[in-house]
Amino acid sequence: MRYRAWFRCFHGCPGEYSVYEVIYRCPRCGGLLEVAHDVDALKDRSAAAWMRIMEDRAGTTQWPYGSGVWRYKEWVLPDINDDNIVSMFEGNTNLFQAHRLGEHIGVPDLWVKLSGNSHTGSFKDLGMTVLVSAVQQMRAMGKPIRAVAAASTGDTSAALAAYAAAAGIPAIVFLPQGKVSLDQLIQPIANGAIVLALDTDFDGCMRVVQEITRDETIYLANSMNSLRIEGQKTVSIEIVQQFDWAVPDWIILPVGNLGNISALGKGLLLLKELGIINKLPRLVAAQTERANPFYLSYRRGFREKVTVQAKPTLASAIQIGHPVSYEKAKAIIKLFDGVVEQASEDELANAAALADRTGMYTCPHTGVALAVLIKLVQQGVIHRSDRVVVVSTAHGLKFTQFKVRYHENTLEEVMARYANPPVYLPPDIAVVQETILRRLDQVEKMFAMSEPAMAS
Ligand SMILES: *Cc1c(COP(=O)(O)O)cnc(C)c1O
Ligand SMILES: [Zn+2]
Repeated sequence: MRYRAWFRCFHGCPGEYSVYEVIYRCPRCGGLLEVAHDVDALKDRSAAAWMRIMEDRAGTTQWPYGSGVWRYKEWVLPDINDDNIVSMFEGNTNLFQAHRLGEHIGVPDLWVKLSGNSHTGSFKDLGMTVLVSAVQQMRAMGKPIRAVAAASTGDTSAALAAYAAAAGIPAIVFLPQGKVSLDQLIQPIANGAIVLALDTDFDGCMRVVQEITRDETIYLANSMNSLRIEGQKTVSIEIVQQFDWAVPDWIILPVGNLGNISALGKGLLLLKELGIINKLPRLVAAQTERANPFYLSYRRGFREKVTVQAKPTLASAIQIGHPVSYEKAKAIIKLFDGVVEQASEDELANAAALADRTGMYTCPHTGVALAVLIKLVQQGVIHRSDRVVVVSTAHGLKFTQFKVRYHENTLEEVMARYANPPVYLPPDIAVVQETILRRLDQVEKMFAMSEPAMAS
C-alpha cells in the first residue's frame, strides 16, 4: 500500500493504532485520537498532479470517486477496500455567491456553501460515510461489531441511520426527548434504526452512549470518534477546489460539539502540507448565546475549558454545553487566527429570515452563522472587500416548525421583522385585486430595503 493512515493521540502521546481497531481515546492520557496520514508518501505526487486527479474525479459516477468525500480517498482513508465503502455520493454540494444578501450586509463577495444539500439534509453525511465504511471493513475482517450507536441533536442520528441502513448494519440512536425537530426524529425511524428518546439533554445522551459502547460489539459513531472528522474535513477541501484552489479570507460556521470546525481546519492544513495552498483563511466559530461554552472559553483567552448547562435554543443541533472536541477546536482557532462570536435567538431567527428573503431557505444554525457575520461586519472585523464563505450546515426543510412559528411571529424572544403570513380571503375578485396591489407595494418596499444600503 502506497499511502497509510492510522490513529494517534491528539495530545502527542506515543503510540499508533489501526483505524480498524475499536478505540476512541488515547489509552495513556484519555484524550481524543486523530487520524494521521503519511504526508511524505502523499508527496510522491506534486500539488499540480493531485489537483488534476481531484478535478478529473469530480462529478463522475466512478466508484467511489463520484462521492465528494471519496473523491479524496487517498487523503481520507487510503487503505480501505473500495468494496467496503458505504456511500450515497454525498458532498459535491453547491457553493454559490449570495449576491443580494452580501450586498445587504456589506460584504458583496459573500458565498454560501450549502453542505446541508446532502443525502440526509446535513453535513453529517460527510463523516458518516467514512465511519460506516470503516465498520463495514471491520466486519469484513471478522470483527464482532453488531451495531453502530450515536447520541445526537438530530442530524447525526439521521445520517447514521441512513448509512447503516445502506450497509445493512443495525443502528442505535439516542435522542434528547422533545429537543430535536419532528423532521429529524422521523428520519432514523424511517431508516429502521432503534430510536431511544431519553429524558435528558444531548450531553446526557452522550454520557449514556459512552457507557453503552464500552461493549465493543456496539461501535461508537459520535464525532469523538475521529473517523467522522476525516470525512467532514473534505468540506473545506471541496470549498477550496470549487474556488479553483484559491483560499477565501474567512470561513464562518455554527459550532456545538466542535467536531466540524476541527475537521474543517484539518482539511485546510493538509492542503497546505501538500503545497496545494499557501495561505490559510481566518475561521469564525458561531455559537448561540443559549449554549455558548466555546465563546466563554475564547473570551477567557482559552485559559480554561468552560462548560455550561445548555439552554433550549432554536438552533437545537448546537444545544451542547460540554463540547467533546474542545481541545481540537481550540488548537484550530489559534492556528487560524480565529474568532468566536455569539448570537441571540432574535438575531439568529431574523438573520435566517433575511437570507430567505434573498432566495435561500436557511436552517436556524446557519442563521447563527449569518447573524455572527452581520455582527463582525458591523464591528469592522470583517471588511467589505473580504471574500467570506458561510457554511450552511443543514437544509431548512428539516426545521419547518421554526419557519412556521417565525412567520406566525410566535417564537419566544424573537421579534419577527420579516414575518410574511399568508392572506386569507373570500374568492371575491375586487377584494383579491385590492389586496394584491396593497401587498405589492409592501413587497417592492421590502426588496428596495434589501438593496445595498445597510453597509456600515
Ligand atoms: C452537528 C451540527 C452542527 C454543529 O457541528 P459540531 O461538529 O457539533 O460543532 C451545526 N449545525 C448543524 C445543522 C448540525 O447538525
Ligand atoms: Zn494521549
